[in-house]
Amino acid sequence: MMPRLPIDQAETMIRAAGARVTRARIEMLAALLAAEHALTHHEVEKRVNRAHAIDRVTVYRVLEWLTANELAHKIAGSDRVWRFGATNKEHARQHAHFECNRCGAMICLDEPDTKPHIRLPSGFHAQEVDLLTKGLCAKCAPARRKDRRRRSVPGWT
Ligand SMILES: [Zn+2]
Ligand SMILES: [Zn+2]
Repeated sequence: MMPRLPIDQAETMIRAAGARVTRARIEMLAALLAAEHALTHHEVEKRVNRAHAIDRVTVYRVLEWLTANELAHKIAGSDRVWRFGATNKEHARQHAHFECNRCGAMICLDEPDTKPHIRLPSGFHAQEVDLLTKGLCAKCAPARRKDRRRRSVPGWT
């Protein structure tokens, strides 16, 4: 089976939500679906603008609309800038995120197999758990130890 194009997938998701299908909604959701990490307003604007011009106000409005309709979700990075990711069936509504300490990439992770157990004071009820793992993404992680050792060998003995 051919993988579905993000643009078709976006249209199907918006239709399934019973909402009016507009080009801006489709293109912005498609940009989120195609992205390798969650996108800031600015990144969405840049990606959609490759297809055709879209103004900043529309980008803000449509991202809020997608979030309100649970087609997308937003996560704040350490820099306090919102990043948006598509919310689809494979990404359950509650899932963990990974943030790269070096390049700031925010990535949606699959739902963890085991939910962390957080002890709450009596009478408290948890409604959601925000799980964020920080570290280095594959692009930013330093070369594996073995490679480093090999490079430092010549000339010293
Ligand atoms: Zn990184
Ligand atoms: Zn996510």
